[in-house]
Amino acid sequence: MENFRFQALRVMLDRQIKEVDIPSKKISDYFGEMTFNRAAMREFLTQEAYVKLINAIEKGGQIDRKIADQVASGLKAWAVSKGATHYTHWFHPLTGTTAEKHDAFIVPVEGGKSVENFQGKELVQQEPDASSFPSGGIRNTFEARGYTAWDPTSYAFIIDQTLCIPTIFISYTGEALDYKTPLLKSLSALDSAATEVCRLFDKNTEKVFATLGWEQEYFLVDSVLFKARPDLALTGRTVFGHASAKDQQLSDHYFGTIHERVYNFMRHFEYEAHRLGIPVKTRHNEVAPNQYECAPIFEEANISVDHNQLLMHLLEKTARKHDFQVLLHEKPYKGVNGSGKHNNWSLMTDTGENLLSPGKTPKSNLRFIVFLVNIIKAVDKYSGVLRAHIASAGNDHRLGAHEAPPAVISVFIGEQLSKTLDQIVKRTKKGNLNAGGSESNLSIPKIPEILLDNTDRNRTSPFAFTGNKFEFRAVGSSANCAGPMIALNTIMADQLREFMQDIGKLTDNGASRNEAIFQVVKNYIGESEKIRFEGNNYSDNWLQEAERRGLPNITSTPDALKALTGADCISLFERNNVMTPRELLARCEIQLENYTNKIQIESRVIGDLAMNHIIPIAIRYQNQLIENVKGLKEVLDSKTFVKLSRNQLQSIKDISEHIEQIKDMVLLMIEERKKANKTENVVEKAAAYNRNVFPFIDKIRYHIDKLELMVDDELWPLPKYRELLFVK
Ligand code: ADP
Ligand code: MG
Repeated sequence: MENFRFQALRVMLDRQIKEVDIPSKKISDYFGEMTFNRAAMREFLTQEAYVKLINAIEKGGQIDRKIADQVASGLKAWAVSKGATHYTHWFHPLTGTTAEKHDAFIVPVEGGKSVENFQGKELVQQEPDASSFPSGGIRNTFEARGYTAWDPTSYAFIIDQTLCIPTIFISYTGEALDYKTPLLKSLSALDSAATEVCRLFDKNTEKVFATLGWEQEYFLVDSVLFKARPDLALTGRTVFGHASAKDQQLSDHYFGTIHERVYNFMRHFEYEAHRLGIPVKTRHNEVAPNQYECAPIFEEANISVDHNQLLMHLLEKTARKHDFQVLLHEKPYKGVNGSGKHNNWSLMTDTGENLLSPGKTPKSNLRFIVFLVNIIKAVDKYSGVLRAHIASAGNDHRLGAHEAPPAVISVFIGEQLSKTLDQIVKRTKKGNLNAGGSESNLSIPKIPEILLDNTDRNRTSPFAFTGNKFEFRAVGSSANCAGPMIALNTIMADQLREFMQDIGKLTDNGASRNEAIFQVVKNYIGESEKIRFEGNNYSDNWLQEAERRGLPNITSTPDALKALTGADCISLFERNNVMTPRELLARCEIQLENYTNKIQIESRVIGDLAMNHIIPIAIRYQNQLIENVKGLKEVLDSKTFVKLSRNQLQSIKDISEHIEQIKDMVLLMIEERKKANKTENVVEKAAAYNRNVFPFIDKIRYHIDKLELMVDDELWPLPKYRELLFVK
């Protein structure tokens, strides 16, 4: 019988393009129709409930039981009118995905009938039996209770006939078991700290929120080829596969015309995304073959995080309808670009001003400089915290792999702004400061318009200023954006509070407010100089330079996570009321366990495939060669035989050599796994997997990839890179 690979390729050849039937030509006709947005609220809620709910969304006001009942009733009426039969609390447990448990809107009534029912208490709080979610020891399974509680700031939505209510997920004792809880707390810390700083410049500012616009990269692969590669199916990446003769050398995929089958898939998922109110805007082919990107218009960070989680789900779900599988892994294929998720982040006031947008007046420019310099200072001080929040087994392959920023955290601000900061340092030298300066007299240098021009861009920095926002590029494609957002918001909140204290110290000693601001800004610029880098972050020179500057280059997840357990990090999250020490340590433990499990699975997968798929096929091919050589010996005279069998005999030996190497290493790897598994301590266990098990994967791969090039193509059982990457 034909092997699975050929069966899969045959299915592929018969693929038809699936056109999508979108009921309307205009996005505005269906945008947000599956969300309980303001228009729906106005239609389905009483005036009183509407006002209270909007107040809760905008100002964090309380919703009492009576109002909750009214909202639940309106929400149910809306959901039923849209065909929903079930509801669920939708949350982000620490598995990194989203969780839901559906309940029907059903309540029995007399006569064996039922009616749709949904009450305030079901909206506001639920107690899912969620004892199997990771909790890092916060919640033992015997006290399995965890609560989900409604987050009214993120619109409820309908997907698969189910009303989904965004919620936080906390333990019985009130500790966060999810991503959303600390995210909301970090946003609140940032709000209070940033508002205070804004009020130095504008008394009308009442609220500051973070904005996030993510860019999601992903690969597509035909679903039958995916199924024929157990490593992709079980680990999300290929643990072996020889490079295709052609991959991305010609840069002919990037921004290329989108293939029709892919285009139909994109149109389809964008349609679903738009109905759910996700403002997806940009789509294009990425650098690697079969790699793509999609990006929305930015939104308030909590909503944007929810939308990214939802989008990843939609990508996978819609892809299946087009016989594709989406790969969200950071490095599905060796040798071609991996996938990231750039997190574009900025701060915005309730008066609609972007705090990272250079202003037109001296006053707004000074405010801009203050925020800019504080971010640089925060990143300098807590680069380890940021690094820890983007660490994952998948991202380890990507960071520093010459298509992604290195694992060294640095900040890029561009030539113009660098000059501006230099000028500030010079201008505030003695005698140049306008003591007690009136606002129109601030000695802030004029910031050139060119700043907003795309030419001054560096695409290699992990954290780059791009005109009116920072782009955190080191985030992995499969990550929940909440992680990096929690880190950024918290370090910024902390830094801004320190800034106010530093100002206070100077004004207490008689300095004018403006003098104090200048002095502190100047100090910060000097103190955080080492984190700024304007050159090529992909170059080896930078790694050497970074080392000279004392910037760490942390290349593995277990090492990166160490920062979370440091006293400064624990205290940072505690004093900003974002996470208690227990919550933070639990998170660290979960991440370490996750890392260990992933490497363990990869190691088992490569071991099994090598022994059960690759070696038997290599032996079969080797036997063919042996038979052939024997035949040659029969028909050729001995001199000709020696001359003409040389290469074949060498191949027979080479194959044996590779097989022996693979077998030896699989056995050694199993030994190392056994040793590592005996380790009780999660930190040591992850480190052992990293140090002693992980390296075998690539070593074994080397020999498998060599065999792939030698063995008869007709025998090779697993789809090859050229098929995975190019066949559509
Ligand atoms: P690229 O980095 O590929 O050039 P774009 O410049 O098109 O991409 O923008 C990338 C992302 O930045 C988009 O998702 C966009 O919404 C987002 N973005 C733009 N302004 C802001 C902002 N003020 N806050 C957060 N994200 C923003
Ligand atoms: Mg970008």
